[in-house]
Amino acid sequence: MEFGGRRALRRKRIQAEASYSSGLQFYKEPPTGNVSLTEFDEMAFERLKVLRAVERLNLSGYIKNSEEWITKLYEEFAKNKFFIILAEKNTKSNTDEVQKARRQDHVSHFILRLAYCRTEELRRWFITHETDLFKARFLQATRIGSDIRNFLAINNLHYTSITAEEKQSERENLLASSMNVTGDTMEGMTFYKVPFIDALELVRQRKVFLKQGYAYVPETDLATLVTSSFRSKLSHDMTTTCRALPELDSDERLVNLLHDFDQRYTGKDYSSKKHGDTCRITPDMIDTLANKSFPPCMRQLNDTLRTTHHLKYNGRVIYGLFLKAAGLNLEDALFFWRSHFLKNMDVDTFDKRYSYGIRYNYGKEGKKTDFSPYGCIKIIMGNIAPGDVHGCPFKHSDVAILRQRLVAYKVSNQVIDEIMELVNKRHYQIACQRYWESIHGVPIDAGINHPNQFFEESQKFLNGGVQPSQGKKQSEVKTTPTFMYSSQSSTQSSTQSSTQPSTQPATQPSGGNTMTVSEEIDMYFDDDIEAAMLEQCME
Ligand code: SF4
Repeated sequence: MEFGGRRALRRKRIQAEASYSSGLQFYKEPPTGNVSLTEFDEMAFERLKVLRAVERLNLSGYIKNSEEWITKLYEEFAKNKFFIILAEKNTKSNTDEVQKARRQDHVSHFILRLAYCRTEELRRWFITHETDLFKARFLQATRIGSDIRNFLAINNLHYTSITAEEKQSERENLLASSMNVTGDTMEGMTFYKVPFIDALELVRQRKVFLKQGYAYVPETDLATLVTSSFRSKLSHDMTTTCRALPELDSDERLVNLLHDFDQRYTGKDYSSKKHGDTCRITPDMIDTLANKSFPPCMRQLNDTLRTTHHLKYNGRVIYGLFLKAAGLNLEDALFFWRSHFLKNMDVDTFDKRYSYGIRYNYGKEGKKTDFSPYGCIKIIMGNIAPGDVHGCPFKHSDVAILRQRLVAYKVSNQVIDEIMELVNKRHYQIACQRYWESIHGVPIDAGINHPNQFFEESQKFLNGGVQPSQGKKQSEVKTTPTFMYSSQSSTQSSTQSSTQPSTQPATQPSGGNTMTVSEEIDMYFDDDIEAAMLEQCME
């Protein structure tokens, strides 16, 4: 049975879906229709990249919503061919592609609502960056002369403009209270009279004239007004979505796709890199490279390996994959690990316990997958037990130890203080970026989001003198209390994604032996595997 109300709602949705008349959306109604799971995943992933581009720019020192900020953001969108560019094409060229891009905009926004409504922290991250994105798009639309009035009309955003008489009578007050309004520009300018609660941002900045509970907003500040409305609506909708979330949990397909979505790595893919194609490293180079170009997380692993000639399981996986993507081939990797481990054991023990794992990382055993090295978010979110050295030093190290280590790395006291401040605010990746900049003496615009990116940028700079960035010096960067990524929150747990090797091989090695599962485990892994991993494997 279908109720009239629902029928009407559906009709309204279908109409909304049929055509998107504006490149800007207020996301009032959820999308309808069919989307394949692949499309669902791709759309969501691209929007995540868009939001992270906004976040990166916010943290790179440009003044938010300034001309420069918008230009940079749109350059980034164009460079990556994000759907935003196509979706905002003029309505005259309202072709199928434009409609498709607008639909992607619509659908992907709602998918991310599902992924980001789970916790307060995720909601805050999503709302902040969606709002920034919306404001940038609104300002861009104003800049290029898009039909803003049409957008306001279709979204029922009716702001009442004041009459010419009222404008004249309040002229002095309006001139004194409104920024960017002069006697010359005032004549042709429209002022909107709105309840002050709708213009809190402008009130907070003391940018509007207030009278009897109303704010007089010049049209130049319309973007702030609309954005504030967007933000409060989104905030309310996110809470509603969160309440409805348990209904989704029965759909395993969606749960799998959305699980840990915020931790997805969106940077360069290092898994497909052919070892030795653009750069090749050999075991004898590793110590020198570690001192010059490895990020602190990998340098820490290398230091421990050099001194103890052993790394625990997670350390071996993370460091092994990093070295693989850095250009160490399988033969060299076996040689490298063997040369360290043989200081504590004989060849047979090494071959029995460790060489399988190394070959597994290179896709020569088990599932034969070309595993990706871990990105920053995954390392930062990892669980660290006492004695583990595979975490991100900026997140997991004790403050005093981190300071000592940075002194040993010859970082100046001033930079160390800056880094400690960033760490204190939980800006771990920016702290790492600051470290990179201090050891290379140049800024890095792209930020740091992957240990291999840290390494590659360093090598590019040291070998070719290539300036990795045209960005601002980090010392000029003003950071906000926003997290670099929401997933950096220490309150969330970490799990591994399907693109990474599981914490143990899933299949038996070839050879048709008749070992029991526990015997297999003994053979593949050493004594430091956590009990949980063993249990999981035995299941
Ligand atoms: Fe390593 Fe990333 Fe932490 Fe830097 S921010 S130390 S690259 S995990």
